[in-house]
Amino acid sequence: MTRENRDKGRDFVFPKMDIWKETGLSRWPVFDEKDRVIRELHFELTYRCNLKCRMCDLWGQGAADPTKIELELSFDEIRRFVDGSRRLGDVQVVVLSGGESLLRADLADIVSYFTTKMPNASVGILTNLSSEALLRSRLEEIFKKCRPNLWLGSSIDGIGEMHDRVRGVPGSYDRMMKTIAMVKKDYPKMDVSLTYTLLPENYRHFLPTYELAEKIGCHYGAQFVVQKEGTDVFRWTRKQLDEISADIDQVIDRLLTEHDAMGRIFRGESADSQWLWTRLFYWRILKQYGDRPRRYIKPCLAGRRYAMLDPWGNVSFCSPHKKKPVGNIRETDFDALWDGDKARRLRGHIDEGRCDCWLMCTANPVLDKIMQLACSSPGPVTGGGS
Ligand code: SF4
Ligand code: SF4
Repeated sequence: MTRENRDKGRDFVFPKMDIWKETGLSRWPVFDEKDRVIRELHFELTYRCNLKCRMCDLWGQGAADPTKIELELSFDEIRRFVDGSRRLGDVQVVVLSGGESLLRADLADIVSYFTTKMPNASVGILTNLSSEALLRSRLEEIFKKCRPNLWLGSSIDGIGEMHDRVRGVPGSYDRMMKTIAMVKKDYPKMDVSLTYTLLPENYRHFLPTYELAEKIGCHYGAQFVVQKEGTDVFRWTRKQLDEISADIDQVIDRLLTEHDAMGRIFRGESADSQWLWTRLFYWRILKQYGDRPRRYIKPCLAGRRYAMLDPWGNVSFCSPHKKKPVGNIRETDFDALWDGDKARRLRGHIDEGRCDCWLMCTANPVLDKIMQLACSSPGPVTGGGS
């Protein structure tokens, strides 16, 4: 792509996207009772893990205190808390994560339960894909019990040895590639998403992993590392951030060209292309966030449409707020926690924009909603382009 064509694409598409964003935001409703109907439940089933990623504070917690493993919510407790909740009645996405979620021996029972209880929901299993045999056996157990709308999510942190270094276990990369090949062969309809965590150590593998994901037929996203207590300390230099910014620009330019963003606008197909604008927005804001972390989009759906649970039953609003749970379902039922004072105060804090992050799990639903609102009645998105 020539530089001139690239600039033309951005100059044409970005101002339109910015108008759609403003339109969507201007139509964003004042949060009301309905906005506490949860659409996505993110459930961390265990903190046990067979890898030791440098940016992760979970495996240490699980390994250091074996008694915590015994305290993980049992299958019966999971069933009771979901059955007893009205707020969870409209969940559309259940994400089962860890630690390494496949280490839960009752994973098939849990997936089967959610599939029966929430037949319209998709179920995502987040796994590090480091054991083909374990994944194969869990999938066989699951498909013996039910036919879920199942997808897999994982992380990739570099090509080859770089992935191993970040994941803390030699051979992880090769095992992951083997596991993905098995899924692609034996479960060809199952989506696999890979998330790249940008670290000062691995950022030069960002574009190569993007290209790899395209080649092996996996979805791909990236986010900056979130600094956690008890892990390595990550510091960025100006030069590193500039290099990342240039690489993200390449991804943006490829999306613009490969999906003919200009043509879609010219042909009046903008409203049918919301997924493309959402993806472009995500990357554009990721670049800004790396440069200057702050809240770039005011509304956040964490604590309204998005809920999190840890393995011991603590309920929180999002991953960055995990250390501030609104309560524990072993002590109080889920809906009472969700509607309680502590939750209300935390929502106020969030609405005032007093926290920030740019993570795929919480950013993309907000961008999706903004684009839906922009398209909700005749307006700039549905009007085609010129
Ligand atoms: S695979 Fe996931 S849970 Fe395990 S150490 Fe890495 S980031 Fe943590
Ligand atoms: S902006 Fe980020 S940290 Fe703050 S509530 Fe939303 S998801 Fe959580």
